[in-house]
Amino acid sequence: MLSNIRVVLVGTSHPGNIGSVARAMKTMGLSNLYLAEPRCEPDGQSVALAAGACDILKELKTVGSMEEAIRDCSLVIATSARSRTLDWPMLDPRQAGEKLAVESFNGPVAMVFGRENHGLNNEELQRCHYHLSIPANPEYSSLNLAQAVQLVCYETRMAWLAGQHKPVDDIQYPSSEDHERFFAHLEQTLSRTGFIIKNHPGQVMTKLRRLFTKARIETHEMNILRGILTSVDKKVGDGDK
Ligand code: SAH
Repeated sequence: MLSNIRVVLVGTSHPGNIGSVARAMKTMGLSNLYLAEPRCEPDGQSVALAAGACDILKELKTVGSMEEAIRDCSLVIATSARSRTLDWPMLDPRQAGEKLAVESFNGPVAMVFGRENHGLNNEELQRCHYHLSIPANPEYSSLNLAQAVQLVCYETRMAWLAGQHKPVDDIQYPSSEDHERFFAHLEQTLSRTGFIIKNHPGQVMTKLRRLFTKARIETHEMNILRGILTSVDKKVGDGDK
């Protein structure tokens, strides 16, 4: 369960933060750290700040993009110091901790943290199911990266401790990769029917992405939607002949 919970750092530029994140994670019982397109490598400063959590630094995985780090995750929560930049489903840290603890029973889940200087971009934020903003001082709401990680890991641990005796919720959600395949299929079908005009796609896909993200579609529901798209593809194909 806790081993299914992934901390993903995107574009980190300070080695010290990587060390402090490792320490923040280990104190809360988490160990799965991913660096997505980091702008620095872990170094002596990382090791010094990780203190007793060097094992997490040794085992961290470095990948080329956030997408690669979350590919197999069925729940992805993005953190942002700015609240509601996009109109996306929001969670507070407590709710996020609960979702991460519960859904980690079924497979890998992730919390994603952004760059020290400008956080996560819109495309990255739109790949996540929920956005989490720590309700900090509105006049100065940007926490240090590792402190933000500490806080979300703490809430996750509290939820995990509280839920240890509860029955497991066995709803299956599709992975991030399956979500992306669905959105690609949807876009392709809507282009074939002419609903989306190739050179003028507008905001349709962003709005549909938000709609389906809000619905938190389960695996069998996504299979039905894929089936519907395939049936439309067949008709459109017939119409072309
Ligand atoms: N200036 C950046 C702040 C980046 S702070 C911005 O505008 O987004 C680096 C990272 O720490 C953020 O991307 C986020 O992952 C986390 N973080 C910092 N403060 C946070 C807050 N109040 N709520 C949620 N995450 C926060």
